[in-house]
This record gives sequence, C-alpha cells and structure tokens, in this order.
Amino acid sequence: MSSTAWDVEELIGTTRRFAREVLRPVALAYDESEEFPAHEVRQAAELGLTCYDLPVAYGGGGVERLSDAVAVIEELTWGDSPIAMAITQVGFFAAPVLELGTQEQQQRWLPRCSRSDVPATAMAITEPQAGSDAAALTTTADRVDGGYVLNGDKKFIGNANIADLCVVFATVEPGSRSKGITAFVVDQQDPGFERGRRLPKTGSRCFPAGELHLRDCFVPEDRRLGEEGQGFSGLLAVFDRARVQLAANSLGIARAALDEAVAYAREREAFGRRIADFQAVSFRLVDAKVKVDQARLLTRHAAALADAGEPFTSEAAAAKLAASEAAVFTTWAAVQTLGGAGYLRDSLVQKWWRDAKLDEIWDGSSDIMRLVVARSLLGR
Ligand SMILES: Cc1cc2nc3c(=O)[nH]c(=O)nc-3n(C[C@H](O)[C@H](O)[C@H](O)COP(=O)(O)OP(=O)(O)OC[C@H]3O[C@@H](n4cnc5c(N)ncnc54)[C@H](O)[C@@H]3O)c2cc1C
Repeated sequence: MSSTAWDVEELIGTTRRFAREVLRPVALAYDESEEFPAHEVRQAAELGLTCYDLPVAYGGGGVERLSDAVAVIEELTWGDSPIAMAITQVGFFAAPVLELGTQEQQQRWLPRCSRSDVPATAMAITEPQAGSDAAALTTTADRVDGGYVLNGDKKFIGNANIADLCVVFATVEPGSRSKGITAFVVDQQDPGFERGRRLPKTGSRCFPAGELHLRDCFVPEDRRLGEEGQGFSGLLAVFDRARVQLAANSLGIARAALDEAVAYAREREAFGRRIADFQAVSFRLVDAKVKVDQARLLTRHAAALADAGEPFTSEAAAAKLAASEAAVFTTWAAVQTLGGAGYLRDSLVQKWWRDAKLDEIWDGSSDIMRLVVARSLLGR
C-alpha cells in the first residue's frame, strides 16, 4: 500500500533490478514445474510492483500514463513473461473496475488489490464457443430481486483456478450480441462460482489459465459495473490499453532473446570464426533488431496517443501486432542462432519462443489486430 506516487525513473530501475536478480534466475524452474510463482508475486507486491499503475487514492503507485507503464512492463518481462503476468494480473481486474465502476465500487475492491497479500484476480470474457467474436458470448445474467443470477461457462481464463475475484462479462439480453453485454464482479465465495480445470499450455506455463463455471450464481446489483449493456464498450476501451501493455510484454521477451542471441553469436566459433561474422547469422539478428525497434516505436506512439487523450484503437492494434510478431521472429532467430544449445530444455531461448507465441493469440489474435487496423485504414 503506497500513499505517494512512484518516481518513474526509480520505478524503472527497481523493476530492472528485480527482473534481473529475482525473476530471471527462477524463470526456467517455474516453466518446468508450472507452479504459480506465489513467492515472487509476494516479493513484487512488497516492493509495490503489483499495483504500480493503480491510483494513489486506492493505495497504488500512481503510474497512470501508459507511456510509463510500457517502459515498466518491458523491464519486468525481460526477466520473465509469465511471472510478470502473475505480478501484474491485478491490473487487468482493476481496468474494467476503473473504466466502468463507480467511485464506491473502486473504493471497495481496489485498495485490496494494492495490499502485499494481493488477491488472485481474473477477467472472464472468452467462452468455449466465443473467442475472437466476444459479442457472441452466451453466459447469461438474469435479473432477479436484488441482483442477477449468472449462468454459463468461461474458458482460457488467466488465473481461473485460483481466482479470488473476477470480472465476468455476461449478457442480460441473449441473442442481442454486444447490446446486452454487462460486467459483474464475482467473488470466489459466491455460491455457484466454480473454479474449473486448469488447462495445460505450450508456453507461459507458470501463469495458469483455465475454466470457470457459473451455476445459478447470484450477484447483488451493486456488483454490476456500469449500466446494463455498457460492458462491451467498456471492454473495448480496456482492450485498447491492454493491447499496448501486451505489446510491451512482447518487447520484453524479444529484447531478452536478442540480448542472448547476440552474446552467443559473439562467443561461439565455427569454421575458425565467430558465428557473428557469418552474414547469415548477423543479418538474421539485424532483421530481429529492426523488427523490435519498429515495434517499440509503434508501442510508444500508441501509448503517447492514449496519454494525450486521442483515439488510439488502431495504433494499439498495430503495436500489439508488430510487437508480438517481432517477439515470435526474434525468439525463433535466437533458437536458430544458438543451434542445438537453443533447443535444449535448459535453454531460455526455447522457453521464450514458446512464451512469445501466446501474445499473437490472446487479447485479440494477429488476424483480429489486422481487422482492427483495416477498419481504420479502409472503413467498412
Ligand atoms: C493462455 C491464454 C490465456 C487467456 N486468458 C484470457 C483471459 O484471462 N480472459 C479471457 O476472457 N480470455 C482469455 N484468453 C482467450 C483469448 O483471448 C482467446 O483465445 C483469443 O481471443 C482467440 O479466441 P479463440 O481461441 O476462441 O480463437 P477463435 O476465435 O476460434 O479463432 C481461431 C482462429 O481463427 C481466426 N479468426 C477468428 N475470427 C477471424 C476473423 N474475423 N478474421 C480472420 N481470422 C479470424 C483467429 O485469428 C484464429 O487464428 C486466453 C487465451 C489463452 C490461450
């Protein structure tokens, strides 16, 4: 719990040290064990890193400019992406509460998110039959005396199997697509809220994702965020910021992989020369560097627009698209550069390759990002 805002330079320095000294050394072990990194989340919370971007009024670190947040996320993720996700997950719960909730609702939940015993939180939109097409979700919220009864199944939800608090998106008007979508805060203790199965993943393995089930789950009216039917527009606003943050996540992974590949290429010898002196190797790494630098500029541009209060939907999508693809290319290039050593399970580059792929899928796949940019470029 903080009572003053972070100095941003100090925060970036603290994050960089934490990533290097705490996260990087344990990254591979967590990937193998798939255990939730509770100890590191607790350490980060004690330093104020879990809630650095929440308002000071709620005990957070007050870093509300997206331009600052992306710098912090890139540093944290350089240490390890899935542990960074576990550390910053509370921000993804807070985002719809800040976007749609009343001051009273923010006061109810956000100070809890700023404590060192930070709750496990989730945001549940996706369902077995509704992913990219979020407006097709079928979880229902039926009005009853004093509140709503929620019914439905959610899938691919980060933290699902451990969530204490969750923002659930449901519809009050089935069949009306985005028109009926409404957000609710659901507590793990609510009867009918069931944490489901944890899903095995290819990468990002210590940050769990799984299923949630709502079975006649009653939530009182004061847990509804915003008005009925406001959930979808709130969600789009949340997505815009989240996509820029996710771009920063990809940049952290990509920078880590490039650092590793460059160091290896300078040392490793073949045919009597450093492999860095072979053009095939150096050009591959140059291509990676250019992609990463381009993606960082797009990410900073989207963040700057957001901070200036300008529309940034298309720019956020472009940043996520470029950064996630840069991360997949760079991690692949790093594995290739390390050769056999990069393919072993004890090498970080193969882990980053698997971690990076997720960023091309969640929070809107690369196809959906292209769709968003196409709408802005070409209209529809
Ligand atoms: C590890 C993980 C964690 C996640 N965490 C969360 C979470 O916390 N909360 C949450 O709500 N969701 C979460 N998700 C869900 C994630 O956002 C979805 O997986 C993603 O939006 C894609 O949906 P889908 O998997 O159903 O794919 P689909 O929508 O079925 O898409 C399948 C393929 O079709 C393509 N496609 C679909 N529509 C179009 C189109 N119009 N044009 C072109 N191509 C198209 C897609 O790009 C993709 O390649 C998570 C997913 C994963 C894997």
